[in-house]
Amino acid sequence: MRIIETVKEMQGVADELRKDRKIGLVPTMGYLHEGHIALVKKAREISDVVAVSIFVNPTQFGPSEDLARYPRDFERDRGLLEREKTDIIFFPDVKEMYPERYSTYIQVRELENHLCGKTRTGHFIGVATVVSKLFNIVKPHFAVFGQKDYQQLKIIERMVRDLNMDLKVVPYPTVREPDGLAMSSRNTYLSPAEREKALLIYASMKKVEALFKAGQRDVSVLREEVKQVLSSEEGVQIEYITISDAETLVEIDRIENKAVLAIACRVGKTRLIDNTILTEA
Ligand code: AMP
Repeated sequence: MRIIETVKEMQGVADELRKDRKIGLVPTMGYLHEGHIALVKKAREISDVVAVSIFVNPTQFGPSEDLARYPRDFERDRGLLEREKTDIIFFPDVKEMYPERYSTYIQVRELENHLCGKTRTGHFIGVATVVSKLFNIVKPHFAVFGQKDYQQLKIIERMVRDLNMDLKVVPYPTVREPDGLAMSSRNTYLSPAEREKALLIYASMKKVEALFKAGQRDVSVLREEVKQVLSSEEGVQIEYITISDAETLVEIDRIENKAVLAIACRVGKTRLIDNTILTEA
């Protein structure tokens, strides 16, 4: 396994590899869990060379967000990736990615105006910017992204399409703990009591899935269910509960086509997101 810290070296290696091999990239912010590892396994399945980037990207954090305390443990990540036979870890520092006078940002309009984009101003500009940089540096044929961050996935797909980027975005379903909690590096912030409360998110989604299956298409009814479940205990602060068109992310009143139920809330101080697709197919 090769650990590469500079853009120049990474681009050189990528050029060499691309002569006869397919590169799969899994962009991450590190502190890896089984969700990330599932993405790595997927990349392994579809490509000859697997690269994982580890970079806690400052431009996607707001001024009052958790950039400084975001969990980091490179040695642990390295061990996990070694076990998966990862070929390359791209591990740049902030100066390498954003040198002096850095001034170029990518904005994916419309899609950024919904869900997390409403409260996390500029977040998706940071995401689109760093991901397009990673694409230019690692030069992958495939890039695997989790559906756990549904809006991020849709934004990256749109960016790749709009800017004619020559790679395929490969979505991967959300990996959950045995009790249903979506895996997240931020779960480490939760106290045992908070972790218990966080399960309400999954419980509320299951409830909506069951109602949907039974024929309920009225969004206000379905959203109210989520609200009831999340409010059933103290300490879960709802940021949003939305049911939107799964492609445009525009909120809808009735489910006619493929829709996504997306939830963001705070459990204690920890912000958690989750989502599920509601579709007849
Ligand atoms: P992060 O390190 O949180 O930026 O995530 C890196 C990648 O892993 C993104 O594509 C995420 O969507 C994906 N990811 C994070 N958590 C999960 C999960 N529980 N299941 C599947 N993919 C995930």
